[in-house]
Amino acid sequence: MSKSVLIIGAGVAGLSVGCYAQMNGYHTHIFEQHTRTGGVCTAWQRHGYTIDGCIHWLLGTQPGSWFYELFREVGVFAEGNPLIYIDHYLHLLDESTGMSLDVTTDLERLKADMLAISPQDRARIAELFAGVQRAEGFCHVQAKPRELMGVRDYLQLLWSMRRLLKYVTFDNVSTADFALRMKHPFLRWAIPNIFVPETPIAGTFMILNHLRLGELSLVRGGSHLLPRAIEKYYRALGGEVTCGATVEKILVKNDQAVGIRLADGTEHYADVVISAADGYSTIFSMLEGRYVNARIRRQYTTWELTPRMLMVSFGVDRQFPPGSFENIVAFRRPIIVGPETFPQMWFRTFTYDPTLTPPGKSLIQGLLFSRDFNYWATLYEDRPRYEAEKQRAAAEVLERLEAYLPGLTAHVEVTDVASPYTFWRYARCYQGAAIGWAMTPERLGGYVKKTLPGLKNFYMAGQWLEPGGGVPIAVHSARQTVQLLCHQDGKAFQVLPCQNRQ
Ligand SMILES: Cc1cc2nc3c(=O)[nH]c(=O)nc-3n(C[C@H](O)[C@H](O)[C@H](O)COP(=O)(O)OP(=O)(O)OC[C@H]3O[C@@H](n4cnc5c(N)ncnc54)[C@H](O)[C@@H]3O)c2cc1C
Repeated sequence: MSKSVLIIGAGVAGLSVGCYAQMNGYHTHIFEQHTRTGGVCTAWQRHGYTIDGCIHWLLGTQPGSWFYELFREVGVFAEGNPLIYIDHYLHLLDESTGMSLDVTTDLERLKADMLAISPQDRARIAELFAGVQRAEGFCHVQAKPRELMGVRDYLQLLWSMRRLLKYVTFDNVSTADFALRMKHPFLRWAIPNIFVPETPIAGTFMILNHLRLGELSLVRGGSHLLPRAIEKYYRALGGEVTCGATVEKILVKNDQAVGIRLADGTEHYADVVISAADGYSTIFSMLEGRYVNARIRRQYTTWELTPRMLMVSFGVDRQFPPGSFENIVAFRRPIIVGPETFPQMWFRTFTYDPTLTPPGKSLIQGLLFSRDFNYWATLYEDRPRYEAEKQRAAAEVLERLEAYLPGLTAHVEVTDVASPYTFWRYARCYQGAAIGWAMTPERLGGYVKKTLPGLKNFYMAGQWLEPGGGVPIAVHSARQTVQLLCHQDGKAFQVLPCQNRQ
């Protein structure tokens, strides 16, 4: 008889766990607190505009790459390829000096532009691009879960990263620290912002290599369509989803997970429980902190979270010429919102995807990275003040955008603001950190176990197990969790081919 599995959370990870578990003969049911599936991989409708609240670039989206194959496995391509491939990835601009840099798939040009800006940094620039070449062929994830890797697997892993060894061992520094070695102040600012400043430099090498190979994409029609495709496949495989069902407790008997209790008091029982929800609430709330050790406590008290986000989107009754997919501006005069000062802003114009707006209109979005969740959480208790502060932030962002998109202000017809607290309400992510743990040099090579000490029949999946997060990583993590489940049950893990149109 097939075992029953209850899955908590219908984000990309939960839905993917469902797909892989169904493929392996488990009978699964997902419970999702929100009224819709997808978790933080989402977009929402406002007066005819689709506000994309997630993907800026999706990794590994060329046929043959590991992540592409994973997307194929969970049905992302079942109705055709929804990806828009990125060529002009980023435009970086420093308002104070007027200096700028364009990051496209043409890395030779990027190198030449950097050299033109700072000939005295020749050696460091050469090291950066040599690093990108060293990243060729390296995949930072493994097909097997760490729990099942043996000596031979570790040796293979070591071999695959041999060309990057220097940067994953004694010179494992953050991209920001690597950039500090540059003499030119503009490059010291621009290089960390090509990807994520705190990420290990080896990670930036890899991203640039993916860009060069045309392996960064966006989802046509909005990020929400990616989990929607996975959900469709999951249901076709026989899985069930219940939305609007907040799990309050994981039921445990004799140190074995036996089911869940929902906020409405109903209980559901199964052979196995898998949480693909936020790690903190899973471990410390749903399981009341009963299955933790020193390592887990340390993790939750010392690990750095990804930045929180204040996202301001404008529906605009006019069009703008196409430009870079993404822009980052270092302000001459920072934006101040609540207790925080924001020295820079990301913005995108979405001109690459006309399906997001009514004809002849456009969508513009500004993004500020915040460290302060509590400010927004406390403010939310006084709704009029919370709403007023959101509108004030929106006005500031609009004023700054006007400099780059002249005429914008007069044509805004829709304003939408998502605060760090909005992300929490959407997916219950710990401290509003919608992308989970930051990938820092300290986290490189480490891993978070998919089980908890002393608790049987229980597993976890998703971004809280994989510092740095990301949509492909959420699918990957789900696959590994089901691999581990199959292993514990003495089954050979299998993947059923999906009828993909790609
Ligand atoms: C603004 C933004 C930009 C991003 N950009 C990119 C990008 O460019 N590229 C990229 O690859 N990734 C990006 N990401 C990250 C990526 O979206 C996430 O890493 C990934 O979607 C996480 O999936 P998940 O399923 O692990 O977690 P989540 O999406 O958080 O899913 C967890 C689910 O569990 C549910 N849940 C929580 N608690 C409960 C409960 N008690 N009961 C029931 N259900 C519960 C939540 O509602 C949610 O649906 C971005 C994220 C954001 C927010």
